[in-house]
Amino acid sequence: MTQNAIEIQGLTKTYTGQGGAPDKQALKGVDLNIRAGSIFGLLGPNGAGKSTIINIMAGLVRKSSGSVRIWGFDQDDSPRQSRAAIGVMPQELNVDPFFSPRNALEVQAGLYGVPKRQRQSDEILRLVGLEDKANAYARTLSGGMRRRLLLAKALVHSPQVLVLDEPTAGVDIELRQMLWDNVRMLNRERGTTIILTTHYLEEAEEMCDEIAIINHGEKIAQDSTANLLGGLDAKTMVIVPEEMPRTLPELPDIKTELRDNGTLALAYHTSVTSAESVLGLVRDSGIRIKDIKTEQADLEDVFLNLTRSA
Ligand code: ADP
Ligand code: MG
Repeated sequence: MTQNAIEIQGLTKTYTGQGGAPDKQALKGVDLNIRAGSIFGLLGPNGAGKSTIINIMAGLVRKSSGSVRIWGFDQDDSPRQSRAAIGVMPQELNVDPFFSPRNALEVQAGLYGVPKRQRQSDEILRLVGLEDKANAYARTLSGGMRRRLLLAKALVHSPQVLVLDEPTAGVDIELRQMLWDNVRMLNRERGTTIILTTHYLEEAEEMCDEIAIINHGEKIAQDSTANLLGGLDAKTMVIVPEEMPRTLPELPDIKTELRDNGTLALAYHTSVTSAESVLGLVRDSGIRIKDIKTEQADLEDVFLNLTRSA
């Protein structure tokens, strides 16, 4: 299959308020196509609606309206096929405390109708580094091990689409690395389409080919990671001059601005102009530098800009 792993159209979700609480419109008509074979990031602040999208895809939450196709199968018309095509590692760390990892995988495989001969529990446990704990009670597993078990459970039916909801929230560096290695390996060797949600831009930047940004239940941007985060080489050098220049220097490819606090701000792109040459140009225009610092446009800025303009 060369087209889309996921096709979502006009997806809405309103959670009915319980016990007098008001209804909550969590999704306001989301369209989302995710290319087969990609590592795709769903990005957005807490409460944006990311988990709601994921849980609808997983069949854990009932949508209010719209259509969802997974691996070409419409969720309403072909519930069994669409469910078989997707594996979800949920955000919550729910594991049955009385099952060992091996039991948990066998039960999960049974739920998905994977025949005994085709089960790969040991291989999956090895993949996520839980082979030593295969027969331990899940309640004795650390938080990180539980997360690995949840990843393992998402893999028992060899889904074409693997979804990870906030996989690294509260996870240590080692586990994070292991998760990413596994995910990249699955993507590369099995062609598994990976969808992950995160509110860490850096994580999305590091992992994803393509990113969609969700805010207040709406998709506000979708593009390749490079295009979306391409403005990130913007830097500003802020100079405290010995003496204020009478006129602002006109410098190629640099935007100069005199700030109220008596500093001179020079905005430039590191892909075009080096800090070295900015400094040189400043000196050449006769300005003597008393103090200097740089400001970097970080990922949070890009994100804020996108969410503000929406
Ligand atoms: P995200 O995963 O991006 O943090 P969620 O999809 O979890 O966002 O939540 C989107 C919105 O829907 C939030 O305002 C959240 O409070 C609300 N919400 C999520 N689940 C429920 C629920 N079961 N009942 C009522 N409101 C919910
Ligand atoms: Mg969430």
